[in-house]
Amino acid sequence: MRSKYSKFKELLRSAVPSPCIVCARNCNEVISICKFCCNDLPWIKNACYACGLPLPDSGLHANHCAKCLLHPPSINFCQGIFHYESPISRLITRFKFHDQFEIGFSLSFLLAGEIEKEYAGISQPEFLIPVPLHRERLRVRGFNQAFEISKVISQQTSIPIGLDFVKKVRNTSAQTELDSASKRRRSQKNVFCCDKNRWPENVNHVAIIDDVVTTMATVLSLASSLESHGVRHIDVWCLARATL
Ligand SMILES: [Zn+2]
Ligand SMILES: [Zn+2]
Repeated sequence: MRSKYSKFKELLRSAVPSPCIVCARNCNEVISICKFCCNDLPWIKNACYACGLPLPDSGLHANHCAKCLLHPPSINFCQGIFHYESPISRLITRFKFHDQFEIGFSLSFLLAGEIEKEYAGISQPEFLIPVPLHRERLRVRGFNQAFEISKVISQQTSIPIGLDFVKKVRNTSAQTELDSASKRRRSQKNVFCCDKNRWPENVNHVAIIDDVVTTMATVLSLASSLESHGVRHIDVWCLARATL
C-alpha cells in the first residue's frame, strides 16, 4: 500500500539517529519515539466503534458504548489511538503551538499504522477530510495540524486528501476556551460549508482527520455538512480521544 517514495523516506529517516521526542535519548526508529517510550504511551486498548471512547472492562465483547447504542451518532467508526493525557497532551501542544512537526509526523505515523491494521481487507475511505481551520486561525498558526496529520496518513495509506473540499466559514472559539459542553455544541452550528466545485461526483465514504476529539461537536458538525453533500459513510481518525 505504501508508495516507493515514502518507503525511501522511511529508510532515510531510520539511517539517521534522532532524539526521542519523549525521553530525548537517541533512537534509530523510523519515527522519533524510542521503543520503550512507544510502549509506555497511553494507548486506547478497547474503544466504542462509534465514539472512540474507551469501553468499560465488563468482560463482554461489546463494540459500542451504552450511549451510542441508545443514540447512534452519524459517525460509522471513530479511531483515536491515545488517551489525551501526559505525555500525549504535552506532545500535541508542542506540535500545534510550537511548530514541532517531528512530533506531528511521529504520532501520525503511529495512527496510520493502526488504521492499516483496522482496515485490512475492508474498504477504505475514498478521501481524507482534515478538519478545516478558519482562515483567521490559519493565518495566526501558520498551518493546519489536521492537514499535517493527513499528509502522513495519505503517504502511508495512499488515500488522497480532499484538499479544500470543505471550508470553515465561521470562526468559533477554541474548544479549550469554552467552559461547557452545551456551549461547545451551540458554537458548532453552520460552521462548515462544502465547496461544490471541488467535490468529485459520487463520494460515498470519507474519513475526517483531527488531532484531538473532545466532545465530538466539531466532527459531528462537519459530518452533517458532508452528509448534506451526499456522503453516506463517515469515519473519524484522530491522534487522541479526550474525555471531559
Ligand atoms: Zn524515549
Ligand atoms: Zn460510544
